[in-house]
Amino acid sequence: MLKRYLLAPGPTPVPPDVLLRMAAPMIHHRAPDFTPIFEAAKNGLKKLFQTGNDVIILTSSGTGAMVASVNNFFNQGDHVLVINGGKFGERWTKICSSYGLSVKEISVEWGRAVDPDAVKKALAEDKDIKGVFVQAVETSTGVYHDIEKLGRIIKEHSSALFIVDAISALVAHDLKTDAWDVDLMVGGSQKGLMLPPGLAFLSVSEKAWEMNGKSKLPRFYFNLKKEREGLHKNSTNFTPAVSLIIGLEEALRMLEQEGLQNVFARHAKLAHATRHGMKAAGLTLYPQENPSNSVTAVNAPDGVDGQAIYKTLREKYGVTAAGGQDKLKGKVFRIAHLGYAGVFDVITAIAAVEMTLKTLGHPIKLGSGVAAAEEILAEAK
Ligand SMILES: *Cc1c(COP(=O)(O)O)cnc(C)c1O
Repeated sequence: MLKRYLLAPGPTPVPPDVLLRMAAPMIHHRAPDFTPIFEAAKNGLKKLFQTGNDVIILTSSGTGAMVASVNNFFNQGDHVLVINGGKFGERWTKICSSYGLSVKEISVEWGRAVDPDAVKKALAEDKDIKGVFVQAVETSTGVYHDIEKLGRIIKEHSSALFIVDAISALVAHDLKTDAWDVDLMVGGSQKGLMLPPGLAFLSVSEKAWEMNGKSKLPRFYFNLKKEREGLHKNSTNFTPAVSLIIGLEEALRMLEQEGLQNVFARHAKLAHATRHGMKAAGLTLYPQENPSNSVTAVNAPDGVDGQAIYKTLREKYGVTAAGGQDKLKGKVFRIAHLGYAGVFDVITAIAAVEMTLKTLGHPIKLGSGVAAAEEILAEAK
């Protein structure tokens, strides 16, 4: 037997209490026993999103809500700005282009955060820009973009909608949807929310609803106006992923019980310890700035193939991390500390990386990274 540990940036581990709730016999989504569950989930999401606006619940992977935030608010030929700093930034461009929007990209060097002045400049150059798209955490590089600063700039310099893919950032980062003027904040179930894949979330500002009234792009399954009408009656247009919504209620209850600020502090600490431990083990981090609290991207040392690290971690030590995507394949590996994550996930990750490097013949002082992380994670009495 090989005991398995899931330390990838989605799907992430699901807590036993959530698993147990989801294992209950099926109930009907139009029957009264589902109503209080749905209502609690929808209200809990508003707290997590830090918004007074509706948060729509969609049955799809996260990308479904990304698509919905394009085809419900824009028209063919609309000018939009995409901040592209990795694989998920690229996805915004692909979705927008597939609906015939006219995309201008700010191409951000991988491993770096967007320069807010570049956004200011792009908005000054084209007064017709109707939407600005970004990731909060670009999961492929492990970088956090400064959403607060971007929100301020967009509000000051344009009337464009601000659309944030926070799928891998929610729960790990303190994201203030309303206070930071984010019009559409996108989330997914299988990252910080500690659930299996299958739900996507989308908070929608009043300004965005006004745009929705003028948008004529084709849509059927992801029709947010109809979903909003349903939401107000604690229902959905189509059969929702009932079990996942039951799990969502439980996951949100757990987060609320811990306290959101404590949840963010836990993620910040785990991320800090991971980075510190990796460096103490002689490794270097991929992000040049703004490393995220969700996932740490680590450079494979010279002469060691990043994919071999990923494979050895998984096959020999049972630790499922993530490799590098696209041009980072073989160059980095990524360790998540996201959602149902604690001190010993970090210790496990660092120990497994040290042992993997040893296995691969790379010189390493075993325990150096673990000791450094323990210094950060050990609590005073
Ligand atoms: C995981 C992820 C997504 C969504 O991926 P799905 O496979 O559709 O759930 C989108 N954006 C980011 C930043 C992600 O990390």
